[in-house]
Amino acid sequence: MSSKTVANHLHRYKKKNIGVNGKEFFVYVCTKPACSHYVRIDLAEGKLCECNKCHEAMIITREVMTKSSGKPMTLPHCLGCVKRKKVTDVEVGAITEFLGGVKTTP
Ligand SMILES: [Zn+2]
Ligand SMILES: [Zn+2]
Repeated sequence: MSSKTVANHLHRYKKKNIGVNGKEFFVYVCTKPACSHYVRIDLAEGKLCECNKCHEAMIITREVMTKSSGKPMTLPHCLGCVKRKKVTDVEVGAITEFLGGVKTTP
């Protein structure tokens, strides 16, 4: 009966102001091709979407909604992508070498 096509993908959101006449009305629009889905930004919390960085499924948490100086992220990404990369063994080795090799002469 319904001609609506149900999205069979996770939406990947981007913040967009669709307000007219200078008004601000922020929504998260799906950036995937052939998808015109969007959700009001104040209703986006708790929704499932795709991370803009690792493309894994993620939930829009309060942190996502406040991460960008108290405002929602422009391109939401998961908390795993927020964390800084762990220092690799190679880097640790290089640091140790650097510290051990440098002698300070008085
Ligand atoms: Zn979509
Ligand atoms: Zn991610």
